[in-house]
Amino acid sequence: MQSIHQVIGGLFQMIAASPHSQIRQKLKSSEADILPTPIRQLARAVWNIPSDRKAHTRCRAALAALVDAEMDGELALFDASVREHILECNRCASLYVELLEISLLDLFGRLPRPSSFPSPDLSFLEALHG
Ligand SMILES: [Zn+2]
Repeated sequence: MQSIHQVIGGLFQMIAASPHSQIRQKLKSSEADILPTPIRQLARAVWNIPSDRKAHTRCRAALAALVDAEMDGELALFDASVREHILECNRCASLYVELLEISLLDLFGRLPRPSSFPSPDLSFLEALHG
C-alpha cells in the first residue's frame, strides 16, 4: 500500500512531467484511478474537469438500484464507480438525495397522498366503440 507521501509525490510527478492538456487527459482517463478518491476529486476540481457524460448516464440508470442498496444497508457492495460519481457530481447527488428522501417517506408511510383521485371523463370511448 502506498503512503500518502508517495501518492502525492506521484501526483506531482504526473503534473510536472505533463503539459496542461495531458494532465486533463490523464485525470479524465483510468490512469487517475491510481489516486485515492479524495486526491482525484481535488485534482479534478483544481483543473475543473467535469465527470464525463457516460458516467452521468450510467449513474442515472443506477439511481433507483443505488437507493435500494442504501435502504437495504448494502451501499458498500454497490458498483464503486457509481458511488464515486455521486460524490463528485452535484446534479446526480441531488437526484439521489431526492429519490432517497421519497423512498424513506414511503417506507415510513409518510408520503403525502391525495385525499381524492380525479375521475377522468372517458365517455368519448363509448362514442368511439358504440
Ligand atoms: Zn452526474
